[in-house]
Order: sequence, then structure tokens, then C-alpha cells
Amino acid sequence: MGKDGDYSATILWDDVRSVQNEVPWAGLVWFSRSIPRQSFFMWLLVNKKLKTQDIMSLWQSLGDTNFNLMCCSLCTSGPESHDHLFFECPFAEQVWDGVKGRAGMEMVQNKWDSIFDHLLQVSNSRNARHVIGKLVVAAAAYFVWQERNQRLFSPKRTADQLVEVILTTVGIKLHSMRFKRTTQVNAILLEWSLPHGLLMEDDDCG
Ligand SMILES: [Zn+2]
Repeated sequence: MGKDGDYSATILWDDVRSVQNEVPWAGLVWFSRSIPRQSFFMWLLVNKKLKTQDIMSLWQSLGDTNFNLMCCSLCTSGPESHDHLFFECPFAEQVWDGVKGRAGMEMVQNKWDSIFDHLLQVSNSRNARHVIGKLVVAAAAYFVWQERNQRLFSPKRTADQLVEVILTTVGIKLHSMRFKRTTQVNAILLEWSLPHGLLMEDDDCG
């Protein structure tokens, strides 16, 4: 990226970050351990700004609408919308079912509104489980959207392959994080197969 690109990205980043104290969901999108590109994606998702087919179809005149395009590329059945993709779509639901245990969200319904409400309640928590929950949701949504975009041009990945990509991405992030050791954190270390030597230092993620 050239100088202009860097400059634009900085302006955009500052701009989107500037809302962080103004909206109740800011803490679930931006937090100190978030993965920046996935945070920006979450910002688009929370604001329903992704160009899903239901929104795109509103931009087209009715006569020009290609109804095949309105079909979800992941399951090729349901009409595509934010609610469908995250995670009511049968394919996306398989992906989410494969990772939600690691997010500590087994009891949360597979609907975006329920997931959002859950995250909202813990958005400013520094509890390890809650921080990891935010990372897993962002990674799951990000990679489901990426797969949706790539279907036209790349070989399909299975739900299990996406589950692996999501857990690997978050696992790598966790390697760089330090948590205060507690019984809960010990259980998380086992769950993520992280070496016990890691995460030994005290920090504010207890
Ligand atoms: Zn679908």
C-alpha cells in the first residue's frame, strides 16, 4: 500500500474508532486484543453495512433483478441477508456450531440478535472467556463472509475446514496474550491446547 493508501486507512480507522465511546456495542467491536481487520468487519456487520443480496436487490430496478443472485451462495437455498448468513444459513450454522463452544456460547441461540445481545452484556468484560468469545464470533463471521465472497472464484471449503481456520486464527492470537492464571484460564489452556508455559504472566484478563 502506498503513502496515500496508508493515509486513507489511518483516517478511516481513526474515524471508525472515534465512535467507540458513543455506542453501547463499541466494546464488542474494538478491544485491546482484537484483530483489527476482523474488528472492522464486525463494525460493518453490527451496522448491517455488508452488501448482502437482499440489500443489493433494493438497489436494482425490479426488472433487472437476477433472482439467482439473491440466493445464498453457501447453502444455495435461502435468500441471503445478514440474519441468514450469521448464522441461520445451514452451512454457516455448521461452522458456528463447530466453534461456539470455544466462545462459551453453547446456550446462545444461533441467531445474530441473540449473539449480539450476549456479546453486548459482556462487551467491556476482561474475563478471559468473554474476550475469547468476542474473538471467536468476529473470526467466525469474518471467515463465513470470506467464504461467501470466494465461492464464485475459488474451490469450496467445507464447514469443518472453516472451523479449523477460525480456531487456528484465534489460537494464534491467544499465543500472544497473557492471562492471570485461574481455574477457568487453566481449563481454557487445555481446551485450546495451549502450552501451560504460556499465559503465566499476570495481566488484567483474569
Ligand atoms: Zn445460506
